[in-house]
Amino acid sequence: MAGMNRIDAPIKNRVRVILLNAALGPLDYRVPEGMTVLPGSIVMAPLGPRKVPGVVWDADSFPVDEIDAKKLRPLLELRDVPPLSAPLRRLIEWTARYYFASPASVLRMVLSSGAAFADNRPITEYRLNGNAPARMTPQREQALEKLADVQGTVSELAFRADVSIAVIRGLEKAGALDSSQASPFADIARPDPDFAKVDLSDNQNTVSETLIQAVQDSVFQPYLLDGVTGSGKTEVYFEAVAEALRQDKQTLVLLPEIALTEPFLDRFKARFGTEPVAWHSGLKQSDRKRNWRALADGDAKVVVGARSALFLPYKNLGLIIVDEAHEVSFKQEDGVRYHARDVAVMRGLYEKIPIVLASATPAIESRHQVEQGNYELLELPARFGAATLPEIQALDLTQDIPARGSWLAPTLINALEENLGKGEQSLLFLNRRGFAPLTLCRTCGHRINCPNCTAWMVEHRLTKRLACHHCGHVMPQPEKCPECSDEDSLVACGPGVERICDEVKMLFPQARTAIVTSDTIWSPAKAGEFVAQMEAGAIDIVVGTQLVTKGYHFPNLTLVGVVDADIGLEGGDLRAAERSFQQISQVAGRAGRAEKPGHVYVQTRMPGAAVIQALIKGDRDGFYDAETESRRAAAAPPFSRLAAVIVSSEDNAEAIEAARLIGQTAPKIEGFAVYGPAPAPLAMLRGRHRHRLLIHAHRSVELQDIMHEWLEKLEWPRAVRVGVDVDPYSFV
Ligand SMILES: [Zn+2]
Ligand SMILES: [Zn+2]
Repeated sequence: MAGMNRIDAPIKNRVRVILLNAALGPLDYRVPEGMTVLPGSIVMAPLGPRKVPGVVWDADSFPVDEIDAKKLRPLLELRDVPPLSAPLRRLIEWTARYYFASPASVLRMVLSSGAAFADNRPITEYRLNGNAPARMTPQREQALEKLADVQGTVSELAFRADVSIAVIRGLEKAGALDSSQASPFADIARPDPDFAKVDLSDNQNTVSETLIQAVQDSVFQPYLLDGVTGSGKTEVYFEAVAEALRQDKQTLVLLPEIALTEPFLDRFKARFGTEPVAWHSGLKQSDRKRNWRALADGDAKVVVGARSALFLPYKNLGLIIVDEAHEVSFKQEDGVRYHARDVAVMRGLYEKIPIVLASATPAIESRHQVEQGNYELLELPARFGAATLPEIQALDLTQDIPARGSWLAPTLINALEENLGKGEQSLLFLNRRGFAPLTLCRTCGHRINCPNCTAWMVEHRLTKRLACHHCGHVMPQPEKCPECSDEDSLVACGPGVERICDEVKMLFPQARTAIVTSDTIWSPAKAGEFVAQMEAGAIDIVVGTQLVTKGYHFPNLTLVGVVDADIGLEGGDLRAAERSFQQISQVAGRAGRAEKPGHVYVQTRMPGAAVIQALIKGDRDGFYDAETESRRAAAAPPFSRLAAVIVSSEDNAEAIEAARLIGQTAPKIEGFAVYGPAPAPLAMLRGRHRHRLLIHAHRSVELQDIMHEWLEKLEWPRAVRVGVDVDPYSFV
């Protein structure tokens, strides 16, 4: 931790630079006369004939081969942005080493907006002015339709309208667009800590006082804020945010889904009088640049974002909140495979600030940290206000049998009918997008597979296509069997949300329905529309995936049906039971959140399963204790550590050979076991053959040290990719 907490001194003459190029290690450069750089300074450096962005780094962090000073090339440019702080540089180093990523690929997340390299000149933005161009083309028509109320640069508009840049330029020439100059810097409104008065319960007060004290003390401390759905966790951590504002410090709030941002922004505005700064992939490029600059300059006081917001260069961070901290979507599955919850704790450590993990169903890992004394537990037991917890009832599908070709049990159908009659809203939960997960030929038994993956093509009837949920491959719904060419022989097997929605429409033609999945709610704005419709009572029955299980608060939603509670228990990865418990608890929490009591029906073929029993009895602690005990007995995480090595290539023989080499050279160390290689369950992904090794290690073993030493010595053909997934959540 060299360099922490001291003012970085300018570096003379020779500097080490990490270029934004994952294939290169750090390189040394000469500092030209008249340029003053610090560790963390953002610079442009020569690389061959090119000019490449990079960051000046601490010389002692990464050893490099010393080059004769006379041969060093001079830096080209120093960017006019604040240097990356020492705590952030330590976080980047830690992340790179812990997750087996290059420092450059972690840096890329820090500098992701391009703002550090952008001109500070005003940006020209365009919007439609209502004039129709004299000549109309299908592309122009599409642009006019999609760009209503959109303002952006030419390339942003082209992206939003899904047309070429030439089409947008053509519209501009035809006089259909107005232009305006936008500042590259944000004019950020400051949230007011005293904007709205809040009435907290005694319980909430006690907890919020602890957090306020932590913000004042400004020392590293993780808190697990554990409270059932509706217990008022947000109100409580908002008090800590208010304190950070009073101290003129920045707060980062991480949310698991960008779709949740919109309802959060509304709640935040009601409390603080203005919206926080948002950070997610749905932002337009110019907003990303502005927001990046505003948080780097310290003007943006509160940032709410998806996991990528974790690596941004905050000027004066005072508090981190991870909401819905148990969510698996905090784990990134491509690029740098980091877990945002865990990296957030490390950022808290380096920044010396408190961090709050909020959840109604905390991860076993987080509870274990409490037991170990590393995290402090803050509990909010009672529901705030008049709301009561819903009653959960299991429906045994072997007894309460759905009609042929349908999926809803008679008891659930009756409950839906009754709820419709009362004018109250219902939610059906099934964590499966599309219409049907499999299309099968009745004649020859052929199953329609993805050509690139070991996976079935999922039917999406709304878009009349089949799609692979692993690689994104799509194809039109075939008319006849691709194998035996029989016509009318293809049948959809199993339900997705679209099929459940069809069943609902058949049963209740008068009901107004909505489907909520990442296919329909793909932006915060779409989520906002859905929330508005629900609040206006324009929807009677919602059919949705895990996207509807959290964050929302609909007072008139009183019935929840879980269509298939057994899905999550299939596949048997180590967190299957925990994840099912969390998901069903969360979706159950959507029912009866105000004065009206809620009912929850859980359809299952295994009503006796421990997870289902715990849900019915409301025995959260019992479930956690049993699950924790079984992990301990099996020496599974958090009582041990796992890492996966994934070897892939388009050439299977090459992949097998590399995987074997890795397996054969595995170090023999006590408490460090290597299993495999074996073909991955998802044996083919995006046209690449995949093989896996699994490492199981005692907690006392230095997993990273051993694996770095082992893997860095090995070589394999260029076309082979070897990825390491530390603390894996996916085992396919
Ligand atoms: Zn066939
Ligand atoms: Zn695929």
